[in-house]
Amino acid sequence: MADAQVQVKFVPNQRGTPSLVHNGFRYNVKQRRNERTYWVCHIRTCPATVNTLNNLITKFGNHHNHAAEHQSLKVEEIMNKIKKRVHEEISPVLSIYEEEIAKLRTPEWDQEIQQIQAVTEITILQYAAGGKRNVKRRKYRDIDHRLATLKQRLQNGDIDVIRFADSASYILHLD
Ligand SMILES: [Zn+2]
Repeated sequence: MADAQVQVKFVPNQRGTPSLVHNGFRYNVKQRRNERTYWVCHIRTCPATVNTLNNLITKFGNHHNHAAEHQSLKVEEIMNKIKKRVHEEISPVLSIYEEEIAKLRTPEWDQEIQQIQAVTEITILQYAAGGKRNVKRRKYRDIDHRLATLKQRLQNGDIDVIRFADSASYILHLD
């Protein structure tokens, strides 16, 4: 691993700190020391690590024990854009969402777009549900956890998008 020009992206994670994204994998900070940062894969059971120096990858550690997550990372990127626009603009959330999805459409990418769209819709529902203040936080932690488990099953290929959407809407309507 001698290529110091490997492209990386930094995206915010749920704790508000940056995650490193490279090649469909996401890493969280394990330790920082001066300009060096030691990253571990965000999946707890995965041993993969990356070291960076001044935001450039200097070393890859163990291999990942799971597939890359291009799709869920893409959904997250769209969601971050949507949330930012919702804060800054007065357009309805759905028209913002449709605009962002439309930007992705390319003739050769139909099926993947459909999946990203399905997952993004569910995420928007979840986002909208989280915006209601009259419901107890604990309930949303529970919903978050269930949706995360469900998303993992979708990523693993245990369930398809239709089944995912069904189960997600069921979870979101629980009292
Ligand atoms: Zn991993």
